Amino acid sequence: MSLIIIGTVAFDALETPFGKTDKIVGGAATYASLAASYFYDKVKIVGVVGEDFGQDNINKFTEHGIDIEGLQIKEGEKSFFWSGRYHNDMNSRDTLATELNVLENFDPVIPDSYQDCEYLMLGNLTPLVQQTVINRLNHRPRLIVLDTMNFWMDIMMDDLKETIRMVDVLTINDAEARQLSGEYSLVKAASKILEMGPKYLIIKKGEHGALLFHEDKIFSAPALPLAEVFDPTGAGDTFAGGFIGYLAKVGTINFTNMKNAIIFGSALASFCVEKFGTERILNLTQEEVAARVQQFVSLSSFTIEG
Ligand code: AMP
Repeated sequence: MSLIIIGTVAFDALETPFGKTDKIVGGAATYASLAASYFYDKVKIVGVVGEDFGQDNINKFTEHGIDIEGLQIKEGEKSFFWSGRYHNDMNSRDTLATELNVLENFDPVIPDSYQDCEYLMLGNLTPLVQQTVINRLNHRPRLIVLDTMNFWMDIMMDDLKETIRMVDVLTINDAEARQLSGEYSLVKAASKILEMGPKYLIIKKGEHGALLFHEDKIFSAPALPLAEVFDPTGAGDTFAGGFIGYLAKVGTINFTNMKNAIIFGSALASFCVEKFGTERILNLTQEEVAARVQQFVSLSSFTIEG
């Protein structure tokens, strides 16, 4: 039994109102696998990096107990590179550069030891590669979660819709839900998207929390109002990794557990934004995570008398 996470393993250069970084480690699979590792101990990564990525950075995964047999290292090639600049509200950003590099010819390898996969997180990546991973597994996992972004909607909408058809849970942000459905109302957008295949839809709303849609049910999760928000990069991937890691740990997939998983994912994401890159989610303790989850519980629990 294991949780496979695929996605970019990357270098990012970031600019936020609070500072600027040179190339630092990022990537969807990086954030998601680190987050999942706080809840589940059989996390396995599928991805590709160039020779420039370096052993020290690879060691960060193994230090978290993450299996890297499916992480290819391409000699003489460069890692995926993304650069972004956040606006003052920190909720929106401009992509300054996306250099696919090793991703251009990425052919994902699924080692035999990964065939026990029960949970699959398709992190942000080319939709065709996401499909290839599903097709290369001997058994369909119990739960497939897909995270994607506007970049793929802009250039490969048809391929992306085919991937969406194959998954159980889709996580996207509010702007992407509108782009995918052509609807402004998120309720209407959700009902259109649920007709495309997934049984569950999570719409992330940055500092305004997240919505879970399933059949005719909606759950609204808050975001924690934070005093320090330095860098929102990776918050979505961290959320998704925490979400599926928690579900893998509890082992039962239902609406109630999905609601809890959203809170655990949100708690991890709230740490992520407190520092640049992966820094804050590299060395969390279980006590810190539990205390943060409690903050979410007290933030939104109330009773109505009479
Ligand atoms: P998030 O802030 O959750 O959207 O994730 C940011 C991470 O996604 C960064 O670390 C980037 O390396 C990675 N990323 C940016 N653009 C893409 C893309 N088009 N495909 C896959 N990963 C990407």
